[in-house]
Amino acid sequence: MRRLCFSKRAWMVPLALAASLFLAAQAPSPAPVTDQETELGNAVYKELKDKGMIIAKSILYDSLTPVTTTIARVAQPRYEHPFKFYLVHDPRPNAFSVPGGGVYVTDSLLYFVKNTEQLAAVLCHEVSHTIHHDAMNRIREMKKAYARAIGATILLGPTLANVIAAKIITDLHTNAYSREIETSADLTGSDTCAAAGYNPYGMIWLMQDFKEANPDQGPQLLADHPSFDARIRALQSHFRDDPGVFSNFSPDRKLAAPFSVSEDAPVVFLR
Ligand SMILES: [Zn+2]
Repeated sequence: MRRLCFSKRAWMVPLALAASLFLAAQAPSPAPVTDQETELGNAVYKELKDKGMIIAKSILYDSLTPVTTTIARVAQPRYEHPFKFYLVHDPRPNAFSVPGGGVYVTDSLLYFVKNTEQLAAVLCHEVSHTIHHDAMNRIREMKKAYARAIGATILLGPTLANVIAAKIITDLHTNAYSREIETSADLTGSDTCAAAGYNPYGMIWLMQDFKEANPDQGPQLLADHPSFDARIRALQSHFRDDPGVFSNFSPDRKLAAPFSVSEDAPVVFLR
């Protein structure tokens, strides 16, 4: 069973800071980042922007940003590229993370969640996919299939990045990861939320609400309905295994911080 040791971060953070300061002193003009994760992340961003889905300005960010900032502070030391959070317009409550640190949250998710802990749970789950490189691993599988299809090994070029970006976007509402990968993101996510000070029971409350939601409403986030019970059990077991962390939080959702946003807030799309 995978367990995280948050106490290690206490020395990892100053170490990373010291390393970056050292590198900054050695390299006066930082080279642009050119790696596959960033390239793919940029391709997804461009695709979503071209589709007119990315919300550039909205009062919704006033509710989202304090939560993303708090979570990024905890999660960032575990991922090499900066996390960036964007709202996208979509009628289905959802969120997804892409390689390179981009995390996309649909506006309808903000209408769906009832408390801050549930929103934090989604974000913690998504940054955990990024930390685990789940999307990148899946893309490597896609690349293999793609390469097999044309009988040659393909280097990741802009064209293929665009193809993969389009595929990532069309996969958004499908159950793309295995139960194991989802559970792993749940457990790491609950550790991240706890370390950020958000009650990790928010993840369980969210799954309970998704179970009860009208399937036509399409809350496909966190994958399929039948697996919610197993994932809730995995989280409960994880909480029991680490009472030093999780006994600090109450399973009583009546103690949660209510979350609500105006549904008719004007939005400006990125063009
Ligand atoms: Zn997931």
